Amino acid sequence: MKKHTIVVANWKMNPETPEEAKKIFNGIRLATKRLKNVKVVVCPPFPFLYPLSKLKYPKNLFLGAQNISNEIKGSFTGEVSANMIKNLEAKFVIIGHSERRYPSAGEGESNEVIRKKLQIAFDVGLTPILCVGEKERDNEGAYLAFIKNQIKECLIGLSKKYLLDIIVAYEPIWAIGKSYKNAMSPTDIHEIVLYIRKVLDELFGRNIATGAKVLYGGSVESESALPIMKYGNVDGLLIGHASLKPEQFVEILKESDIKR
Ligand code: PEP
Repeated sequence: MKKHTIVVANWKMNPETPEEAKKIFNGIRLATKRLKNVKVVVCPPFPFLYPLSKLKYPKNLFLGAQNISNEIKGSFTGEVSANMIKNLEAKFVIIGHSERRYPSAGEGESNEVIRKKLQIAFDVGLTPILCVGEKERDNEGAYLAFIKNQIKECLIGLSKKYLLDIIVAYEPIWAIGKSYKNAMSPTDIHEIVLYIRKVLDELFGRNIATGAKVLYGGSVESESALPIMKYGNVDGLLIGHASLKPEQFVEILKESDIKR
Protein backbone atom coordinates (compact mmCIF):
# COMPACT_ATOMS: atom_id res chain seq x y z
CA MET A 1 0.00 0.00 0.00
CA LYS A 2 1.26 3.48 -0.84
CA LYS A 3 2.43 5.35 2.25
CA HIS A 4 1.75 9.06 2.12
CA THR A 5 3.96 11.50 3.91
CA ILE A 6 2.12 14.18 5.91
CA VAL A 7 3.49 17.71 6.09
CA VAL A 8 1.66 20.06 8.44
CA ALA A 9 1.99 23.86 8.31
CA ASN A 10 1.38 25.45 11.71
CA TRP A 11 1.01 29.17 11.09
CA LYS A 12 0.50 29.91 14.81
CA MET A 13 -0.76 33.53 15.31
CA ASN A 14 0.28 34.66 11.80
CA PRO A 15 -0.28 36.41 9.38
CA GLU A 16 -2.38 39.46 10.24
CA THR A 17 -4.78 39.82 7.29
CA PRO A 18 -6.89 37.45 5.17
CA GLU A 19 -5.15 38.82 2.07
CA GLU A 20 -1.74 37.76 3.36
CA ALA A 21 -3.16 34.38 4.41
CA LYS A 22 -4.54 33.81 0.91
CA LYS A 23 -1.24 34.80 -0.66
CA ILE A 24 0.75 32.29 1.40
CA PHE A 25 -1.90 29.65 0.88
CA ASN A 26 -1.97 30.09 -2.88
CA GLY A 27 1.81 29.59 -3.09
CA ILE A 28 1.44 26.33 -1.17
CA ARG A 29 -1.59 25.24 -3.20
CA LEU A 30 0.13 25.44 -6.56
CA ALA A 31 3.16 23.46 -5.35
CA THR A 32 1.04 20.83 -3.57
CA LYS A 33 -0.72 19.90 -6.81
CA ARG A 34 2.55 18.60 -8.23
CA LEU A 35 3.44 16.37 -5.27
CA LYS A 36 3.03 12.62 -5.67
CA ASN A 37 3.61 11.24 -2.19
CA VAL A 38 2.70 14.05 0.21
CA LYS A 39 -0.49 15.16 1.91
CA VAL A 40 -0.25 18.79 3.01
CA VAL A 41 -2.26 20.16 5.94
CA VAL A 42 -2.36 23.94 6.41
CA CYS A 43 -3.39 25.10 9.89
CA PRO A 44 -4.11 28.85 9.86
CA PRO A 45 -5.57 30.83 12.78
CA PHE A 46 -9.35 30.36 13.18
CA PRO A 47 -10.44 33.60 11.40
CA PHE A 48 -8.74 32.51 8.17
CA LEU A 49 -10.39 29.09 7.97
CA TYR A 50 -13.49 30.55 6.32
CA PRO A 51 -11.79 32.56 3.53
CA LEU A 52 -9.34 29.74 2.86
CA SER A 53 -12.12 27.15 2.76
CA LYS A 54 -13.59 28.97 -0.26
CA LEU A 55 -10.52 28.36 -2.46
CA LYS A 56 -9.94 25.41 -4.78
CA TYR A 57 -8.12 22.38 -3.38
CA PRO A 58 -6.03 19.72 -5.02
CA LYS A 59 -6.82 16.23 -3.63
CA ASN A 60 -3.76 16.19 -1.38
CA LEU A 61 -4.26 19.58 0.31
CA PHE A 62 -6.29 19.95 3.51
CA LEU A 63 -7.25 22.62 5.99
CA GLY A 64 -6.63 22.08 9.69
CA ALA A 65 -7.13 24.06 12.91
CA GLN A 66 -4.59 24.71 15.65
CA ASN A 67 -6.93 23.89 18.52
CA ILE A 68 -10.52 23.09 19.51
CA SER A 69 -12.51 23.42 22.71
CA ASN A 70 -12.74 20.52 25.12
CA GLU A 71 -16.49 21.15 25.26
CA ILE A 72 -18.99 20.33 22.51
CA LYS A 73 -21.13 23.52 22.57
CA GLY A 74 -22.68 26.07 24.91
CA SER A 75 -21.62 28.83 27.28
CA PHE A 76 -17.85 28.82 26.81
CA THR A 77 -16.87 32.38 25.94
CA GLY A 78 -14.04 32.67 23.47
CA GLU A 79 -13.96 28.96 22.65
CA VAL A 80 -14.24 27.38 19.20
CA SER A 81 -15.85 23.97 18.86
CA ALA A 82 -14.78 20.97 16.85
CA ASN A 83 -18.04 21.06 14.88
CA MET A 84 -17.53 24.72 13.96
CA ILE A 85 -14.21 24.00 12.32
CA LYS A 86 -15.50 20.77 10.77
CA ASN A 87 -18.27 22.84 9.15
CA LEU A 88 -15.59 25.11 7.67
CA GLU A 89 -14.14 22.13 5.79
CA ALA A 90 -11.22 21.56 8.18
CA LYS A 91 -10.21 17.91 8.24
CA PHE A 92 -7.38 17.99 10.77
CA VAL A 93 -6.67 19.66 14.11
CA ILE A 94 -3.46 20.08 16.08
CA ILE A 95 -4.03 19.09 19.71
CA GLY A 96 -1.73 19.63 22.68
CA HIS A 97 0.82 21.89 21.05
CA SER A 98 3.50 22.88 23.58
CA GLU A 99 2.56 26.56 23.20
CA ARG A 100 -0.88 25.60 24.54
CA ARG A 101 0.48 23.25 27.20
CA TYR A 102 2.85 25.99 28.41
CA PRO A 103 1.42 29.39 27.34
CA SER A 104 3.29 32.60 28.15
CA ALA A 105 0.36 33.68 30.36
CA GLY A 106 -2.35 31.77 32.18
CA GLU A 107 -2.81 28.08 32.77
CA GLY A 108 -1.82 25.57 30.17
CA GLU A 109 -3.56 22.43 28.97
CA SER A 110 -3.16 19.23 30.97
CA ASN A 111 -2.92 15.77 29.47
CA GLU A 112 -6.47 15.21 30.73
CA VAL A 113 -7.83 18.20 28.78
CA ILE A 114 -5.89 17.10 25.72
CA ARG A 115 -7.40 13.61 25.99
CA LYS A 116 -10.90 15.15 26.00
CA LYS A 117 -10.06 17.21 22.92
CA LEU A 118 -8.77 14.12 21.10
CA GLN A 119 -11.98 12.25 21.92
CA ILE A 120 -14.14 15.13 20.65
CA ALA A 121 -12.05 15.54 17.48
CA PHE A 122 -12.42 11.86 16.62
CA ASP A 123 -16.14 11.87 17.53
CA VAL A 124 -16.92 14.67 15.05
CA GLY A 125 -14.77 13.16 12.32
CA LEU A 126 -11.67 15.34 12.48
CA THR A 127 -8.20 13.80 12.38
CA PRO A 128 -6.23 15.04 15.39
CA ILE A 129 -2.47 15.51 15.41
CA LEU A 130 -1.29 14.97 18.98
CA CYS A 131 1.86 16.92 19.93
CA VAL A 132 4.22 15.53 22.56
CA GLY A 133 7.75 16.44 23.55
CA GLU A 134 9.98 17.28 26.46
CA LYS A 135 11.11 20.73 27.61
CA GLU A 136 14.71 19.66 28.00
CA ARG A 137 16.93 16.61 27.86
CA ASP A 138 18.76 15.14 30.84
CA ASN A 139 21.45 12.46 31.07
CA GLU A 140 19.39 10.15 33.26
CA GLY A 141 16.67 9.72 30.63
CA ALA A 142 13.86 11.35 32.63
CA TYR A 143 12.70 12.91 29.35
CA LEU A 144 11.86 9.46 28.03
CA ALA A 145 9.57 8.77 30.99
CA PHE A 146 8.05 12.22 30.47
CA ILE A 147 7.20 11.48 26.82
CA LYS A 148 5.80 8.07 27.76
CA ASN A 149 3.57 9.64 30.38
CA GLN A 150 2.29 12.26 27.93
CA ILE A 151 1.40 9.54 25.42
CA LYS A 152 -0.24 7.41 28.08
CA GLU A 153 -2.32 10.14 29.72
CA CYS A 154 -3.40 11.70 26.42
CA LEU A 155 -4.46 8.46 24.73
CA ILE A 156 -5.65 6.21 27.53
CA GLY A 157 -9.31 5.29 27.24
CA LEU A 158 -9.70 6.24 23.56
CA SER A 159 -11.28 3.46 21.55
CA LYS A 160 -9.10 1.18 19.47
CA LYS A 161 -10.85 2.37 16.31
CA TYR A 162 -9.60 5.88 17.04
CA LEU A 163 -6.13 4.85 18.14
CA LEU A 164 -5.62 3.06 14.84
CA ASP A 165 -5.71 6.49 13.13
CA ILE A 166 -3.52 8.33 15.58
CA ILE A 167 -0.94 10.84 14.39
CA VAL A 168 1.73 11.76 16.95
CA ALA A 169 3.95 14.77 16.30
CA TYR A 170 7.12 14.61 18.35
CA GLU A 171 8.15 18.21 19.02
CA PRO A 172 10.93 18.68 21.57
CA ILE A 173 10.27 22.12 23.03
CA TRP A 174 13.98 22.96 23.20
CA ALA A 175 14.20 22.57 19.40
CA ILE A 176 11.19 24.74 18.47
CA GLY A 177 11.50 28.18 16.88
CA LYS A 178 15.24 28.05 16.20
CA SER A 179 17.34 27.48 13.10
CA TYR A 180 17.76 24.04 11.55
CA LYS A 181 21.31 24.05 12.92
CA ASN A 182 19.99 23.91 16.49
CA ALA A 183 17.37 21.27 15.81
CA MET A 184 17.62 17.50 16.25
CA SER A 185 19.79 15.35 14.04
CA PRO A 186 18.09 12.73 11.82
CA THR A 187 19.82 9.96 13.84
CA ASP A 188 18.40 11.26 17.12
CA ILE A 189 14.98 11.66 15.52
CA HIS A 190 15.20 8.07 14.27
CA GLU A 191 15.85 6.86 17.82
CA ILE A 192 12.99 8.76 19.41
CA VAL A 193 10.54 7.61 16.74
CA LEU A 194 11.48 4.00 17.57
CA TYR A 195 10.93 4.81 21.24
CA ILE A 196 7.48 6.32 20.58
CA ARG A 197 6.45 3.19 18.64
CA LYS A 198 7.77 1.00 21.49
CA VAL A 199 5.69 2.99 23.99
CA LEU A 200 2.58 2.68 21.78
CA ASP A 201 3.23 -1.05 21.49
CA GLU A 202 3.56 -1.49 25.27
CA LEU A 203 0.45 0.56 26.00
CA PHE A 204 -1.89 -0.28 23.15
CA GLY A 205 -0.48 -3.19 21.16
CA ARG A 206 1.36 -3.93 17.96
CA ASN A 207 -1.32 -2.86 15.45
CA ILE A 208 -1.60 0.61 16.91
CA ALA A 209 2.17 0.99 17.20
CA THR A 210 2.79 0.08 13.59
CA GLY A 211 -0.25 1.94 12.23
CA ALA A 212 0.46 5.22 14.02
CA LYS A 213 1.95 8.04 12.00
CA VAL A 214 4.85 9.74 13.74
CA LEU A 215 5.89 13.22 12.60
CA TYR A 216 8.81 15.39 13.69
CA GLY A 217 8.53 19.12 14.37
CA GLY A 218 11.07 21.60 15.64
CA SER A 219 12.94 24.08 13.44
CA VAL A 220 12.74 22.07 10.25
CA GLU A 221 13.88 24.29 7.39
CA SER A 222 14.60 23.63 3.72
CA GLU A 223 18.21 22.74 4.63
CA SER A 224 17.15 19.90 6.95
CA ALA A 225 13.91 18.47 5.55
CA LEU A 226 15.50 15.99 3.13
CA PRO A 227 17.94 14.34 5.59
CA ILE A 228 15.17 14.08 8.20
CA MET A 229 12.80 12.49 5.68
CA LYS A 230 15.50 10.08 4.48
CA TYR A 231 17.08 9.05 7.77
CA GLY A 232 14.73 10.21 10.54
CA ASN A 233 12.28 7.27 10.29
CA VAL A 234 9.36 9.72 10.24
CA ASP A 235 6.00 9.71 8.45
CA GLY A 236 6.16 13.43 7.97
CA LEU A 237 6.95 16.85 9.38
CA LEU A 238 5.27 19.62 11.34
CA ILE A 239 6.59 22.99 10.24
CA GLY A 240 6.22 26.25 12.15
CA HIS A 241 8.08 29.40 11.09
CA ALA A 242 9.23 28.01 7.73
CA SER A 243 5.62 27.37 6.69
CA LEU A 244 4.97 31.12 6.53
CA LYS A 245 7.62 31.61 3.86
CA PRO A 246 6.06 30.06 0.75
CA GLU A 247 9.34 29.61 -1.13
CA GLN A 248 11.01 27.85 1.77
CA PHE A 249 7.92 25.76 2.53
CA VAL A 250 7.59 24.69 -1.10
CA GLU A 251 11.24 23.52 -0.99
CA ILE A 252 10.41 21.48 2.13
CA LEU A 253 7.42 19.95 0.34
CA LYS A 254 9.53 18.96 -2.65
CA GLU A 255 12.17 17.39 -0.37
CA SER A 256 9.44 15.47 1.45
CA ASP A 257 8.09 14.06 -1.82
CA ILE A 258 10.11 10.86 -1.70
CA LYS A 259 8.82 7.28 -1.93
CA ARG A 260 8.98 5.55 1.45
C1 PEP B 1 5.96 24.22 16.06
O1 PEP B 1 5.93 25.06 16.98
O2 PEP B 1 5.06 23.40 15.91
C2 PEP B 1 7.11 24.21 15.17
C3 PEP B 1 7.43 23.11 14.54
O3 PEP B 1 7.75 25.42 15.06
P1 PEP B 1 9.13 25.72 14.32
O4 PEP B 1 9.17 24.95 13.03
O5 PEP B 1 9.12 27.18 14.13
O6 PEP B 1 10.21 25.24 15.26
